[in-house]
Amino acid sequence: MIAEVQEKTVSSAPSLITEAEALEILEGKIPLLSVVARASEERSRYYTNRVRIHILDNIKNGYCPEDCGYCAQRKGGDSGIQEYSLKTPEEIWDDAKRAKDNGAYRFCMVTSGRGPTDKAVDKLAETIAKINGELGMKVCLSAGILDAKKARVLKDAGLDRYNHNLNTSESKYNEICSTHTFKDRLTTLEAAREADIGLCSGIIVGMGEELKDLIQVAFELKRLGVISIPINFFIPIKGHAIQKSSLTPEFCIRVLSVFRLVNPDSEIRIGAGREGHLGSLQSMALFVANSLFAEGYLNVKGSEMVQTMNLIRDCSMVPEFTEGVPEGWDEYETQSLYDEKNFPELYKHKK
Ligand code: SF4
Repeated sequence: MIAEVQEKTVSSAPSLITEAEALEILEGKIPLLSVVARASEERSRYYTNRVRIHILDNIKNGYCPEDCGYCAQRKGGDSGIQEYSLKTPEEIWDDAKRAKDNGAYRFCMVTSGRGPTDKAVDKLAETIAKINGELGMKVCLSAGILDAKKARVLKDAGLDRYNHNLNTSESKYNEICSTHTFKDRLTTLEAAREADIGLCSGIIVGMGEELKDLIQVAFELKRLGVISIPINFFIPIKGHAIQKSSLTPEFCIRVLSVFRLVNPDSEIRIGAGREGHLGSLQSMALFVANSLFAEGYLNVKGSEMVQTMNLIRDCSMVPEFTEGVPEGWDEYETQSLYDEKNFPELYKHKK
């Protein structure tokens, strides 16, 4: 087993580019490979050749009174998703165990809704303590708006990260949601930070924002010391109020690079939309980002674990498990394009 990298909870490395330089990168004024080379150097400095795999568990789906335009679970969304209330601790435990057995570095529990009640927080705290203590697995929770007291209960249970995405810039926020504000989001992040919980907060790219909105979010996350930054690329599916997304793979790489260069020591995660928006440039993206999701997103399917492992191996990188990198990880079952099932005629004379 190769040793575990000590995890930071707050990003502290200064930004390496200014807002004007970030704009030049996003406008395509600097050649793509120069941008990737610079971002990749920082990625290697802080995260070597390791990739963290996160698995999401949607522990409560739908029944949400909020109206976030990018979300299929929003009030009146009519998306046809399966709605269910908070899973039992036993169900969540089984999901966490499966994620651990499948190679996840971190287990991310996500609930729909404006924010958890005191009772829900107590229930979540018990589950977090059990996953932490018995599986030794890192846990991230995304449960909406939190106050200082609830943040403290979760921290005491062993929660080391809380996810609450900024999603877009302050000036754009009221175009994507009317039931809560950008300020509400900041207040929650500040409550989690006060409780000494590492912050996970990112963006959704492709909701009609301008380049300056992306840049503002990148620098706001730096100001907050966010250590984990998921970059989601918007997938317009049935039920979303927003229905446009015009992203190219190159632009997605440029966005990832800007977030890396503004937040050099943060875990930059390729979030939702990796498969569809990055397409064949997914491997290039991994030289900028050091983390990704496997096995899908909240209400959309994504690459399975075996495809994700193949991607990591093709980049000559290694998956990082909670305990470090296990020897022989690349003996993980892989799928080859040249498997017999894909090319039966090549195998017909096989003895
Ligand atoms: S993002 Fe969260 S709060 Fe907003 S509609 Fe979806 S489930 Fe509700």
